[in-house]
Amino acid sequence: MSYLVLARRYRPQTFKEVIGQPHVVRTLTNALKHQKLSHALLFSGIKGTGKTTVARIIAKSLNCQNLMDGYEPCNACSNCVEISKGIFVDVIEIDAASNRGIDQIRDLIENLKFAPAKGKAKIYIIDEAHMLTREASNALLKSLEEPPSHVYFILATTEPNKLLPTILSRCQRYDFRRLEHPLIVKYLKEVCQKENYEIEEEALELIAKEAQGSLRDALSLLDQAMAYGTKTKEDVISAFGWHETLLIEELASILLEKNLKKALEIAQKVYDQGIDLIYLMEKLTEFFRELLVIKAFPKESKMSFHTPVVRDLVLENELEDILLIFQSLVKDLEIIRKSSYPQLQFELALLKICEYGKLIPLKDLIEKLDQISINNFSFSIGSPEEHKEIKEKSWENFVEEIKKESLPLYGLVSSLSKPEIKAEEVFLKLSSSSNIVDSPYYKILKEKIESYFNRPFRIEIEEKKRSTLEEVKERPEVKAVLKTLSAKIAYIQPLKE
Ligand SMILES: [Zn+2]
Repeated sequence: MSYLVLARRYRPQTFKEVIGQPHVVRTLTNALKHQKLSHALLFSGIKGTGKTTVARIIAKSLNCQNLMDGYEPCNACSNCVEISKGIFVDVIEIDAASNRGIDQIRDLIENLKFAPAKGKAKIYIIDEAHMLTREASNALLKSLEEPPSHVYFILATTEPNKLLPTILSRCQRYDFRRLEHPLIVKYLKEVCQKENYEIEEEALELIAKEAQGSLRDALSLLDQAMAYGTKTKEDVISAFGWHETLLIEELASILLEKNLKKALEIAQKVYDQGIDLIYLMEKLTEFFRELLVIKAFPKESKMSFHTPVVRDLVLENELEDILLIFQSLVKDLEIIRKSSYPQLQFELALLKICEYGKLIPLKDLIEKLDQISINNFSFSIGSPEEHKEIKEKSWENFVEEIKKESLPLYGLVSSLSKPEIKAEEVFLKLSSSSNIVDSPYYKILKEKIESYFNRPFRIEIEEKKRSTLEEVKERPEVKAVLKTLSAKIAYIQPLKE
């Protein structure tokens, strides 16, 4: 016997077995019980949420010879069995997306007037109903208006907005929702138990996440996972090549933590694995957009649809932080797309984000400044022994260490001339053409130098020719005026001779 895929083997055969969609099931079973089912139904929702499955259960319910509780098919009578097999003459499934769709609609309209051949009701299930041509839709419309009492139409679509408004208004509409993440995980677990297949829950979590609310997708992924013999989360990642998904979650947490060291480690990992950086940045940007939407509209975006990692990130972080990172990523995504050095741009993007965090709390900044001045004082009274130790730390050794730590930083540091290592500071004179201070790496470099040499790092920019504005700003009398009036210089008008 050929292998039957899980999605088919576990296809629900009764309303009770339907996974999720309680609102749909409740309304439909009530209508069936009271024989008040509408003759034109529209099932909308993403793929794999049970639209066709429920349509077939209805078809059985309307034709079953031993109906239970007034709505539940027995699945044992000849009508039920034939409908399950897809060979029952009075249940006609039409795929509107196929070329045969139009011909089938024509046949359908021709045959409407005839009573069911075998069962009690004729059921037309029209899949992908939004793909019907205008011509076919119009033809169908007439039948939908006044269907014979033995005829039922069930239109299924993933894009209800593409249907003619006149069709929409003729149908009773049922929206099939995405299945919630925990529900999919629970279901996958049950299937694995029935199949006697051992697999880690974390692996199932990952599969459920990828399925994005579609049970059919989740089951076909599980099918593949079983075929590969995957047991762990890591197995699943390598079987499906989902490294990016995990990497993005990891990276997002690191960026929200503003952990630069870890961010640069990830950048290295990304580089080593040869992952496409533009793709990764796109996914990362999308991920932050998702976080932003969930954070901003927690009610509408239904937290329960998301993985535990996403939920934690949303709960633990402020909207402003998520927004700042998202904005920064959007900008850098454009830059990376155009850059000839995407790797470097990628590192810069991560770095900028980690630096944002350090800009925010002014109070902390002032405390830090106080700390620095205290430390400076202690340097000058340091013991001779300390001095001896410091002297062994040369600029060359420092550059060597940086080279081991970070290539972009090394690139920056090796472009500098050698600074003077003085007793009270590390001092570097630069020409005005140097833009080192503008580099996002500058702050880190400065921190590294200061911690390595245990004294402040100072840069003096040797400006050959300062702009008039800067020069004027520096004049003591101008400074005094600006300060007293809390003013800014708008423009400078040279005096006429
Ligand atoms: Zn039956």
